[in-house]
Amino acid sequence: MVEPILKPAMQLDRRADFPILAQPVRGQRLVYLDNGATTQKPAAVIHAESHFYEHSNANIHRGVHWLSQHATDLYDQARVVTQQFLHAQRIEEIVFTSGTTDSINLIAYSWGMANLTAGDEIVLTGMEHHSNIVPWQLVAQKTGAIIKVVPVLDNGELDLTAYQTLLSNKTKFVGIVHVSNALGTVNPIAQMIEMAHQVGAKVLIDGAQAVAHTEVNVQELDCDFYVFSGHKIYGPTGTGVLYAKYDLLDAMPPWKGGGDMIHTVSFESSTYAPVPQRFEAGTPNIAGVVVLAEALKYVQTVGLDAIAAHEDALLRYATAQLGTMKGITLVGTAANKAGVLSFLVDDIHPHDLGTILDMDGVAIRAGHHCAMPLMTRFGIPGTARASFAVYNSFDDVDALVASLKKAQKLFGVADE
Ligand code: PLP
Repeated sequence: MVEPILKPAMQLDRRADFPILAQPVRGQRLVYLDNGATTQKPAAVIHAESHFYEHSNANIHRGVHWLSQHATDLYDQARVVTQQFLHAQRIEEIVFTSGTTDSINLIAYSWGMANLTAGDEIVLTGMEHHSNIVPWQLVAQKTGAIIKVVPVLDNGELDLTAYQTLLSNKTKFVGIVHVSNALGTVNPIAQMIEMAHQVGAKVLIDGAQAVAHTEVNVQELDCDFYVFSGHKIYGPTGTGVLYAKYDLLDAMPPWKGGGDMIHTVSFESSTYAPVPQRFEAGTPNIAGVVVLAEALKYVQTVGLDAIAAHEDALLRYATAQLGTMKGITLVGTAANKAGVLSFLVDDIHPHDLGTILDMDGVAIRAGHHCAMPLMTRFGIPGTARASFAVYNSFDDVDALVASLKKAQKLFGVADE
């Protein structure tokens, strides 16, 4: 007899914090498992946005009036909250952007264009999101730098032996995703950063899928750049963070010109503001940044250790459940994974699967997950992906499994 998979006791129950989850979808209880794409927002974050517009809205850094100073204070406090969240040494090391993509483009166009020349090597991993590939291709085309790729093993881990052989004194830059959005693999970034530093390369960590799921200490990691998006950590869309070591950031030229990033301007030439203002041209997403700080505080209040333990329990439970089903292939079985379950069900196209699950109110993602080279590596067009957040429960996993079984029946591939 097959042992039943025991449903563990719930460690965290935060569903009630998120108003949208009370809204039925297609007449069903919403089972939101598309957190890798974007997370839902807690009431504290939603209310902070309307509170800002009701009580604090003004442009920052320019006004002499009370409201402008108040909005500036809130914006500046958000930088302190973010600095503390990432354990950065200095406030000036935090630049607000519109998201991970924007942060990476900033590094590529500012640091990359200023520091890369023909023959220099950029090392990226085979599991990068397109946003950590395409900007480097554009910079490589302009500078003559060459992109090298760290291969991915069959279980979805990086081939560290191959990584070591790729590194040389030609390597000027290494870009590594902290947690793969397509596989859930948690990469051994501390070790990989140290290896890159031994050849003098600068290292960017793409933390888009990491910061909401695990504690990040940029000083301990010793990374040169760390980036993430607000919307994947319960904050607003259109907000993002770039952390860079102060000396590195201070030496970087601006890449966007405009108001707020200058010291003096004449028609002959301009001089630029110190960092981080040098990289925040124009009116930023003031409300978004203020609200992002609320999202970071929410995560800290719940506790990243508690979140990580909760999501790990969900992942283990879901992996065990899917493991008992015939016709399911898990894509990405690394020893160290966070919150993402990528899979194929018989020969059902992931998009069809996603559409069928949606009828049951189960929201998953289907496709290449903006990681086409990785899909090519596995010889598949895409996967179905369930990704977990603080508000998910074992009931959500049960709903996913029940809906998957229904889909198999519908396609005539059920084993019962
Ligand atoms: N990097 C990773 C690993 C991601 O998962 C994503 C989004 O899915 C991005 C970068 C891009 O983030 P954004 O679209 O918020 O800029």
